[in-house]
Amino acid sequence: MAFEDSLWHHTADEDFTPRPPLPGDIEADVAIVGAGYTGLWTAYYLHKLKPQLRVAIVEREIAGYGASGRNGGWCSALFPPASTGIARRHGTDAAVAMRRAMHGAIEEVGRVAEAEGIDVHFARGGTISFARNEAQLIRGRELVEDERKLTGDVEQLRLLSRDEAEQVARATRVLGATYTPNCAVVHPLRLVRGLARRVESLGVSIFEQTTAGAVKPGSVLTDQGRVRAGTVVRAAEGYTASLRGHRRRFVPLYSLMIATEPLPPEAWAEIGLSRRETFADLRHMRIYGQRTADDRLAFGGRGAPYHFRSRTRPEFDRDARVHAALREVLVDLFPIVGDYEVTHRWGGAIGVPRDWHASVGLDRGRGFAWAGGYVGDGVATSNLAGRTLAQLIAGEQSELTRLPWVGHRSRGWEPEPLRWLGVNGGRFLLTRADRSEARSGKPARSARAFARFIGY
Ligand SMILES: Cc1cc2nc3c(=O)[nH]c(=O)nc-3n(C[C@H](O)[C@H](O)[C@H](O)COP(=O)(O)OP(=O)(O)OC[C@H]3O[C@@H](n4cnc5c(N)ncnc54)[C@H](O)[C@@H]3O)c2cc1C
Repeated sequence: MAFEDSLWHHTADEDFTPRPPLPGDIEADVAIVGAGYTGLWTAYYLHKLKPQLRVAIVEREIAGYGASGRNGGWCSALFPPASTGIARRHGTDAAVAMRRAMHGAIEEVGRVAEAEGIDVHFARGGTISFARNEAQLIRGRELVEDERKLTGDVEQLRLLSRDEAEQVARATRVLGATYTPNCAVVHPLRLVRGLARRVESLGVSIFEQTTAGAVKPGSVLTDQGRVRAGTVVRAAEGYTASLRGHRRRFVPLYSLMIATEPLPPEAWAEIGLSRRETFADLRHMRIYGQRTADDRLAFGGRGAPYHFRSRTRPEFDRDARVHAALREVLVDLFPIVGDYEVTHRWGGAIGVPRDWHASVGLDRGRGFAWAGGYVGDGVATSNLAGRTLAQLIAGEQSELTRLPWVGHRSRGWEPEPLRWLGVNGGRFLLTRADRSEARSGKPARSARAFARFIGY
């Protein structure tokens, strides 16, 4: 099972004994389905705003079992869709507000972790994204120009020359890079486990090994009993399709990761990343890496197959072909890594809405709230979601509750087999676009076809 296989599980220094399940039917003010970042941040901020509320979380496995305990640990301002997409749909002011809120979320994660004594190995080194062919360089320039036009702030995303990029990290075939200070690294599992402990100590009930089958306004029906609550929060992200009535909300896409043994100082002298900057390149099919606190490389990428009917299973967390390809890409970026062992291989499901647009919302009349659809960018975004949901449930209005993702509703995914064809077709288009760009250096048309498919 990939949860236990991950580097994070190995280095969390944590007791994973499950908490007791739901003891039968209970009543609460707020019932949350899912003990990942989204559910836990919502509970945390709800307690801050309304300590008298009875909050109960039901979790199928244990807190942090989902993507929150397995991710790449980029606590970044990345938000789906990108600012240009938000500006097109909701206007420039809304896009700028969203951007600022995401910058704030990075700081807030670091602040709370420190204030609550959760040792998450937080380091704010920013992100370097290498341009390793002409097409990637063109895209890098466009991204920098878009950001400058939107915020007028040239420091948020800078274009680096090859020499400047090498000051940060020495990858192969680099023509240039973009750099943003808006990212920190975290140990993802320490964050989610620490949060679970903290909210429990504040009086929130967490029932583990409790599977919700149906999530309805006013109640959550589980295999252990029913939770009746004034407000029900759906926070199951990549697993949402397993909930009755929510099967076509998000598709689960698998993102897979590897980690190396700790690398010695001479390897780091060659690689760089001295401030623990996160790194990627500007390909379409996203890759992501971090230098961990114990000097390993943790590296991941998307591109694993989508499984018919949005199924999620532990065996999908491992794919020998994708894990081998990840190692190849990492060694291609930093050849010295080829001298060292890959010690961990794992993966997990991210939640993807049809229009690639994350959302958070509360239908007050029905007492039903939700957050998610982060498309693999949920570490900081879920913190913003938790703060926003808490305010919505508490009946407060603020800058956060006016952000453009609040109340956004994505249309559902197509029924099968169209969904399978569309999602795997999109995967194929992006992989083909990257291959063609690496070969020709020209921006690939198939990437634009993919953008049209998701509505941008
Ligand atoms: C390999 C990987 C790498 C990633 N890298 C990054 C990154 O570097 N940066 C970034 O920002 N994001 C990243 N992400 C995405 C990020 O981890 C997620 O967006 C985020 O953790 C979502 O949190 P969540 O609480 O909404 O969902 P989850 O953490 O998935 O939590 C949902 C919980 O619901 C539980 N559940 C599911 N079904 C039921 C049910 N029926 N009843 C009860 N409980 C249920 C699950 O067991 C799970 O614990 C990555 C994801 C993966 C998989």
